[in-house]
Amino acid sequence: MPRQFFVGGNFKMNPATRQQKTTLVKVLNEATLDPAVEVVIAPPAIWLITLRETLRNDIKVSAQNCYFKPSGAFTGEISPAQLADAQIPYVILGHSERRTIFHESSELVAQKTKAALETGLSVILCVGETLQEREANQTAAVVQAQLKPVIETLKESDWAKIVIAYEPVWAIGTGKVATATQAQEAHADIRAYLAKAISPAVAQNTRVIYGGSVTAANCKELARQPDVDGFLVGGASLKPEFVDIINAKK
Ligand code: PEP
Repeated sequence: MPRQFFVGGNFKMNPATRQQKTTLVKVLNEATLDPAVEVVIAPPAIWLITLRETLRNDIKVSAQNCYFKPSGAFTGEISPAQLADAQIPYVILGHSERRTIFHESSELVAQKTKAALETGLSVILCVGETLQEREANQTAAVVQAQLKPVIETLKESDWAKIVIAYEPVWAIGTGKVATATQAQEAHADIRAYLAKAISPAVAQNTRVIYGGSVTAANCKELARQPDVDGFLVGGASLKPEFVDIINAKK
């Protein structure tokens, strides 16, 4: 079965006001979207339920993070159980901003991923190398080291509910997009690693999406690469051009 193209919008800690959020929802609700694409929007936690209630039914909503405990004294955190109860189907885990600014290790990301899956959520699992690591030819090794604790923690069947987002850190929010060749090579390496470390079936079926300065201008060429199954979009998901990115395959 071909892998369904997936486009996620990571709003991060944007926009600043409810009014701007309402405008973004309006643009998406009025747009003509390729029905073959799975579209998922990850707003700040404060708007998760509002977006689920106000966005059209063919757009899903995702959290940007969660903790691995179901409840308790963890000030500032949201649990997978709370997300599931609020009917939020997806959560982004391991985003480079979480890994770098909030010092999340790959082991913690694995724990969170396991807890999210056990609660019935689907996970957008982010991996990617820094510029220094790429220049040292360590891209594949870094990405594999980020994936390894997750692979060791999960069952093979869990992978049906994971989308891997390959997001080179040097491309996130910088305007420096990976070339189509760089993205294809990294995605093919991830698939080869999944085949070796889990199974050829998981490698074949898992969606590997690209993130890092995707725009309407560069999305079509990236989308033509055989191992690029979609995008995770930050900055451009807050602009009307996000609609063109969703429709990149059209
Ligand atoms: C992201 O934060 O996931 C991202 C890809 O950001 P941007 O598109 O702004 O580079």
